[in-house]
Amino acid sequence: RLEADRSLAGAEAVTQDGRTIALGANIGSAAETANALANGAEEIGLFRTEFMYMNRDREPDEEEQTRQYEAVFRAMGDRPVVLRTLDVGGDKELPYLNLPADPNPFLGWRAIRLCLDRPGLFATQLRAMLRASAAGGLLRILFPMISTVTELRRAKEAVAQAADSLRREGFAVPERWETGIMIEIPSAALMADVLAAEVDFFSIGTNDLTQYTLAVDRMNEHISALYDSYHPAVLRLIRHVVESARGQGKRVGVCGEMAGDSSAVPLLVGLGVDELSMNAPALPSVRAVVRGLRHAEAAELAREALRLEDGRQVRELLARRRA
Ligand code: PEP
Ligand code: MG
Repeated sequence: RLEADRSLAGAEAVTQDGRTIALGANIGSAAETANALANGAEEIGLFRTEFMYMNRDREPDEEEQTRQYEAVFRAMGDRPVVLRTLDVGGDKELPYLNLPADPNPFLGWRAIRLCLDRPGLFATQLRAMLRASAAGGLLRILFPMISTVTELRRAKEAVAQAADSLRREGFAVPERWETGIMIEIPSAALMADVLAAEVDFFSIGTNDLTQYTLAVDRMNEHISALYDSYHPAVLRLIRHVVESARGQGKRVGVCGEMAGDSSAVPLLVGLGVDELSMNAPALPSVRAVVRGLRHAEAAELAREALRLEDGRQVRELLARRRA
């Protein structure tokens, strides 16, 4: 009933009752853009730029980064491109940054926290992003691991300063770009109404949001049975984020693994998200699932799921509905 159909690649992901869901691809390098397009990506919903920084002995300089980002914008034409700023720490280490050993890296000095403390590192990346999109293309800058509104304001200020410095040096800078944050820490999810006023979009990172909400290390195999993105605690946070954003006319996407999981898609659509971004091979089947849904039914399903006790019950509900 829901087979992935590659011939649908150009078709919009619209539900039976007319709600459109934007489908994007997650990439880790510019080279992956071609495969994203081949699978029908309408946008790049997440470029995990940290991979450019890994497995080498120094950070990529502004020119190298500019060329990489330009290649993505060129391939995507006028479709949106979400460039996430450096998200290292936790499972991703960079030896050349000479950071002290971190006893608790998932709660430590990482991602936006590190970038705000290393203004040179941050500015290099932001300048490259702005330069790369100056020739055309829709740049969406995404900050990872935001836990407070102050971090968001400081990050936006860093972008404004990068743009000023480029203008002073005679570089072209795009007329406009969009700013978003990852919602992957419970404090950010709970404060989404406050944060929404300062962004253009939210991107929910269900991988980390699950880890931090349930206090389950996403890398620890001994407790992997407790790691469950279908847990109603996670779903309730997603719901709160969607409601907070909608009240202020801001878009909400999901870019964690859950977005590419066909069984979770009815739930996410029912919770009201506007965009799903995933690894490219999942796009055809997710598109087929969306096109088979009725939004009104998905919303009812989501309301039911929010009242359940645990992730197992949510999975059972979804399985019953598919049967
Ligand atoms: C997430 O946390 O869900 C996410 C998309 O980011 P990453 O997997 O890169 O931490
Ligand atoms: Mg994350």
